[in-house]
Amino acid sequence: MGKRDYYEVLGVSKNASSDEIKAAYRRLAKKYHPDLNPNNKKEAEEKFREVSEAYEVLMDSQKRSLYDQYGHEGLSQTFREGNFTWDQFTHFSDLEDIFRDFFSGTGFGGGGGIFENIFGGNERRTGRVLRGRRGGSIKIKVSLTLKEIAEGTTKKIKLKKYVKCPECNGTGGEFITCPTCGGRGQVKRVSRSIFGEFVSVSTCPTCHGEGKIIKKMCSACQGEGRIMKVQTISVKIPPGVSTGNFITLRGAGHIGTRGGPPGDIIVIINEKKDSIFERLGGDIKVKIPISFTSAVLGGSISVPTLNGNFKIKIPAGIQSGHQIILRGKGLPILNTYSRGNEIVELQVWTPKRVNKETKKILQELEKQISPTQDFIKNR
Ligand SMILES: [Zn+2]
Ligand SMILES: [Zn+2]
Repeated sequence: MGKRDYYEVLGVSKNASSDEIKAAYRRLAKKYHPDLNPNNKKEAEEKFREVSEAYEVLMDSQKRSLYDQYGHEGLSQTFREGNFTWDQFTHFSDLEDIFRDFFSGTGFGGGGGIFENIFGGNERRTGRVLRGRRGGSIKIKVSLTLKEIAEGTTKKIKLKKYVKCPECNGTGGEFITCPTCGGRGQVKRVSRSIFGEFVSVSTCPTCHGEGKIIKKMCSACQGEGRIMKVQTISVKIPPGVSTGNFITLRGAGHIGTRGGPPGDIIVIINEKKDSIFERLGGDIKVKIPISFTSAVLGGSISVPTLNGNFKIKIPAGIQSGHQIILRGKGLPILNTYSRGNEIVELQVWTPKRVNKETKKILQELEKQISPTQDFIKNR
């Protein structure tokens, strides 16, 4: 089967701009990524390789012009034995960008695990160090009071983070193209045997696959292209969050080495225990002690809410544990316009000790009201 035309593979015209090629590749890479095609992985893998090969050629002006002039034939020197393999792909960072959002949160994301899955991993790590690695993500925990949760808040957080080295502007120093491999990072060796001619390719011993060697290392960052700095960031927290919720600030984490893309900041919410309110999802509950006489006679009392005190009526003749629901006085429910309720639980309070006079009154009362006697009588 002959090889398909690269322009046709990407579905772009012969004079497509690099932006058009990029957009086409973006679309097709998503369509054919093997992990997104679990039912026909093999076929997807082949298609994915095909579009990546076309991308590799058409994004490189030198390769593209060779191809335009001589077709696939023109690249026989570029690709070993005329075949493209993944270790010759130079746009891993584009792929990482394309799939970063796709796989985040599914267990694929983070350290670039997807590539290790399908490309065998090591290539990237050994071959592209100089181009910079993605920066790490920073996890921070913020503790919020119930009031802050109720109203939403903006928190200022101090943290240590890698930022671009100002001395070398993130480059890590001055580099020159490796003279041994001419920047390819690999060296070819041709050997002959009775079976024919073998071309073996190995990592360049001079630059260890990086394609460049250092001429002068930046002393401020030791060639890392980044330095640690203390920064204060501002995080807006919407009302209604709860423990375990997190907010991702994309690209706000450590910057990568030598111009590599930044990681994220992940803000993890933790709620402080409130001294009087118990949180039940969107509802809050408060236990209020009332006197025996209030429970019998009813009346009105002040109860605390998230917005100051609020007067409520107690009906006459309630039992301890009676609940009064204050609609809409709970917490805002995340991502909605509704609010939970406040549950006021009334608890009849009993004094531990009384003076003589009170004792007398109570003894008089006991003759009048005795639930225990009634209980036994009614059996
Ligand atoms: Zn530097
Ligand atoms: Zn080299």
